[in-house]
Amino acid sequence: MPQEVRGVIAKAKGEPVSVETIIVPDPGPGEAVVEIKACGVCHTDLHYREGGINDEFPFLLGHEAAGIVESVGDGVTDVAPGDYVILNWRAVCGSCRSCLKGKPQYCFATHNATQKMTLADGTELSPALGIGAFCDKTLVAAGQCTKVDPAAKPEVAGLLGCGVMAGIGAAMNTGEVGRGDSVAVFGCGGVGNAALEGARLAGASIIIAVDIDDQKLEWAKNFGATHTINSSKEDAVEKIRELTGGNGVDVAIEAVGLPKTYEQAFYARDLAGTVVLVGVPNPEMRVELPFIEIFGRGGSLKSSWYGDCLPSRDFPMLIDLYLQGRLNLDGFVSETIGIDGVEEAFHKMERGEVLRSVVVM
Ligand SMILES: [Zn+2]
Ligand SMILES: [Zn+2]
Repeated sequence: MPQEVRGVIAKAKGEPVSVETIIVPDPGPGEAVVEIKACGVCHTDLHYREGGINDEFPFLLGHEAAGIVESVGDGVTDVAPGDYVILNWRAVCGSCRSCLKGKPQYCFATHNATQKMTLADGTELSPALGIGAFCDKTLVAAGQCTKVDPAAKPEVAGLLGCGVMAGIGAAMNTGEVGRGDSVAVFGCGGVGNAALEGARLAGASIIIAVDIDDQKLEWAKNFGATHTINSSKEDAVEKIRELTGGNGVDVAIEAVGLPKTYEQAFYARDLAGTVVLVGVPNPEMRVELPFIEIFGRGGSLKSSWYGDCLPSRDFPMLIDLYLQGRLNLDGFVSETIGIDGVEEAFHKMERGEVLRSVVVM
């Protein structure tokens, strides 16, 4: 029987979100219905509401979530009712050209639920990132459910489903930060601080946080930053060179998505170093760099999608590290709120007051 539950809906561009009744169908073949326990408020949710992703309103927002599988459809064997899971937005297909090359983390044909959730009047909903988790229950592809140790609280575990994974993965997977490396991270919001944490986990010795906001730099110190630079007050590139014997860092991670900070990352890295772009640019932005510098400095310029993570590999591992006290996930949770607090949480995020507000169901 389809179920009626509460969900946070963005009905039209720029309009405040509202809590509405939504209809969740029974899971079909390959699908699962998940009872949501907690879901973090991410910039991408705000981006959807502002029409910055696409025009397929109404959106069911929320995508950084943990919950318990309630029911599964035919043919689902990887998860079962009662499993504690983090939802991911890249359920790999196993058969596209990237998966067949043994690189499922880049899968080009990831799965989402086939059926649609709707409003009470039958209007089809577009779930944010194919998830939609500011709701009591959601319908996803079973592959979007990654089982983890239930000892990790949902308000913390869910954060690995998006921004925190993107940041940690940008350092560990994409940047391949290694023991003794020097790392600089530009932008110390949720993703940037997670990148700092990833660099720390990977054994980096110098970890430099760059931002224009002293509050954020203060937060960064809780996530492994050994040095901080306020780039509105001093030249970030010069200061990074100074901190690294005049050379620049091995890995420079851009977590803002602006040409100016990308250029800073480009020039702040050592010869043969790596630049990782995990910040999301908008379509109008252009980067201009001397072509000879791109060649002459060697190394690599990479982009990091979802931290190049493989949920089945990375989520359980990171939860284990968290439970052992080796990964600071608690520090990302600025506050927990109710399902009716999402609009206010957007404003706090815009004002830079929180790393993550987390809706607890
Ligand atoms: Zn694939
Ligand atoms: Zn997100």
